[in-house]
Amino acid sequence: MSTLHEVGSRDAWRCWLCDEPVDPDASVNAGRGPSVDSGASPKGRKAVAGAERLAHRACNTRKGAVRPFVAWSPQLFVVDPAPIAATVERLTRKGGREVVARCPSRADAEEAARWLLDRLSRFAPELALTTQVEAGGGQFLLVLRAL
Ligand SMILES: [Zn+2]
Repeated sequence: MSTLHEVGSRDAWRCWLCDEPVDPDASVNAGRGPSVDSGASPKGRKAVAGAERLAHRACNTRKGAVRPFVAWSPQLFVVDPAPIAATVERLTRKGGREVVARCPSRADAEEAARWLLDRLSRFAPELALTTQVEAGGGQFLLVLRAL
């Protein structure tokens, strides 16, 4: 077990689930206050040091959520976006690649790819990932691949 302060500093006081800042001085009883999410290790993976992550109290997966939920940015033009946390869980377990979204243009797909890699560098820092944009059927597929 790490202290809240250790986990918070390691995660740069940013919530691993919603990607928003967490105020280290907020009350731990407030919904936006800091908490340690110890359910951060995806199912099936061995518990590792560092599986504890900083989350807002209200976002913390221990508070009843079945699995972590990571939202796609509303700024992106993505069609049928895959659930991010479940995709990361599968890629961690099995490797390989998955189509995670379809986009109307290559520029949209490349923007979504940049956003996703940046987001995942904080959500799943231990997982090495790359993205690929593939044209198909008049649209562009965003592919996420485990390295
Ligand atoms: Zn949060």
